[in-house]
Amino acid sequence: MKYVIIWVIVFAVALLIYKITLDIQGASQYKSIPFSDFIKQIDDIQEVVIKGERIEGKFKSGEYFRTSGIVEFDLIKTMSEKGVSVSVIPEEKSSFLRDIIIAWVPTLIIIFLFFSLIRGIERGNARAITFTRSKAKLFVPKKENKVTFDDVAGLDEVKEEVKDIIEYLSNPDKFKGFGIRPPKGVIFIGPPGSGKTLLARAIANEANVPFFYEVGSSFIELFVGVGSSRIRDLFDRARKQAPCIIFIDEIDAVGRTRGAGIGGGHDEREQTLNQLLVELDGIESRGEPIVVVAATNRPDILDPALLRPGRFDRKVYFPLPDLKGRIEILKVHLKRVKADPSIDVERIAKSIPGFSGADIENIINEAAIMAIRQKKEKIDQDLIMRARDKLIMGVERKGLYITDDQKKRIAYHEAGHTLVAKIIGTDQVEKVSIIPRGRALGVTMQIPEEDKYIMEKDYLLNKMVVLLGGRASEEIVFNSLSTGAADDIEKATEVAKKMTYEWGMSSLGPISFKVNEEYIFVGRELTRREQMSEETARKLDQEVINIISSCYNRAKSIILENIDKLHKLAQRLIEKETLVKEEIEEIIGVS
Ligand code: ADP
Ligand code: ZN
Repeated sequence: MKYVIIWVIVFAVALLIYKITLDIQGASQYKSIPFSDFIKQIDDIQEVVIKGERIEGKFKSGEYFRTSGIVEFDLIKTMSEKGVSVSVIPEEKSSFLRDIIIAWVPTLIIIFLFFSLIRGIERGNARAITFTRSKAKLFVPKKENKVTFDDVAGLDEVKEEVKDIIEYLSNPDKFKGFGIRPPKGVIFIGPPGSGKTLLARAIANEANVPFFYEVGSSFIELFVGVGSSRIRDLFDRARKQAPCIIFIDEIDAVGRTRGAGIGGGHDEREQTLNQLLVELDGIESRGEPIVVVAATNRPDILDPALLRPGRFDRKVYFPLPDLKGRIEILKVHLKRVKADPSIDVERIAKSIPGFSGADIENIINEAAIMAIRQKKEKIDQDLIMRARDKLIMGVERKGLYITDDQKKRIAYHEAGHTLVAKIIGTDQVEKVSIIPRGRALGVTMQIPEEDKYIMEKDYLLNKMVVLLGGRASEEIVFNSLSTGAADDIEKATEVAKKMTYEWGMSSLGPISFKVNEEYIFVGRELTRREQMSEETARKLDQEVINIISSCYNRAKSIILENIDKLHKLAQRLIEKETLVKEEIEEIIGVS
């Protein structure tokens, strides 16, 4: 409703301005006279401009006048006979209403379409004009195909933490009897694909209760009030099905700190958030057996009001799976498909550090698709590894035509990465290949030996030396540069910048020069430079340059010291196109 009021005000102001301009014009220059006076005074007139029914002119006395009426041709003739200069301007039929319509209707339509379009895109559908009903998906517990606790792998501690929710939903009265405060609002925190939705569904199934699924952004609409009525509707629906679970994915879309963010959905979001708080409080005070689970990856931007006692007062963290977790997740997903029993699950798990549960599911699906295409009976180790490579590095583009000169350059570039990595002894080189994949013309694939939760400065520097090894090799061998190193350079620079700006690893000491996010909402993002002195900015730039150039020099000297090995490696690459760990070690030796 607020928008309507705003437009009414805008209209009124426009009207006023229009009228005032008319008045000023009239008052300053033209005197309005009746049409009859105009006819009577024709002799005194010097010139006349006729625009349809509007007539403006000047008396011989120099005075301006204005009138309106229908000027017949005879009258024009009479006037010109009397020496009056008459000009007739084709009628514009310009009326006040028409002006307004011309000025405003298209603007309104454009604004409206624009917003609807944006909303439509955001929500991924074309039905941009939406209604106040919640479209939350409802899952009722089913015997077949149901997600159970056993399907959720590698999250033992998390599962332990949510057991009481199942107990509560299966038997709400028991909790009441004991006077235990039941779990009401739970927030699942973790990166995408870490199993938050999966676990929430498993809880519902284990407790044998319905499960409502909604995404936070679906409450954010152009029109103020829509989001909050959708929230109300969702909770009304849930109340009828209680006991049940309401799962709100990406809660941060609604739950952002109030007062942050620019324009548009501002009021709307605030109102939606308030409604959510009201509903949560209602469940708490009325003791309804509904558990609301919200998921997010950004708990830091949530409005503190959401996290108060009685609301989302329990936080459950979903880490990315460690080695053991990945093994278990692999097993769960391998059970769904026909898998060769000889598959070495541990070896696969080791080669995919940092992968989420969803990524692992993807690998298995991809391998299954490959198996069908190749008419294989079962998924085997090789297919899984190829599926993994495809997900990490993109699809092989065997059809791309590459000249021998280019092939040689790519081979030396990749050999540079591999050699430096082996000599420095950072993350294992699993494979090096000059078969183009995705955007890359060649790949050196490194796998960290353990999951890296924190990175030491030396580790980062070594990584950068490896990144710059490709370019260094090209420079040494061909004595010329190419664009092939663009991605490497970008990545290395990114690390160097983070080291100086964020991680306090430069000679300036442990100071953060990160962009202050608060400034981002003033409408325009302040650049780093605007937040610091000119002198500091210059020092930081110099620091980044120093880090990069010292890494580059290290890469070059490693290559120069081992130039024989580089040539061998590149030669072998040109012959075979892909070398695996063992083949690389045969040439360079074990690091
Ligand atoms: P989130 O909600 O955290 O973004 P999801 O629960 O939607 O992630 O996970 C997507 C898919 O990834 C699941 O459907 C499941 O197949 C797989 N997955 C994620 N985590 C696990 C896990 N711990 N065990 C088994 N499968 C998982
Ligand atoms: Zn490279």
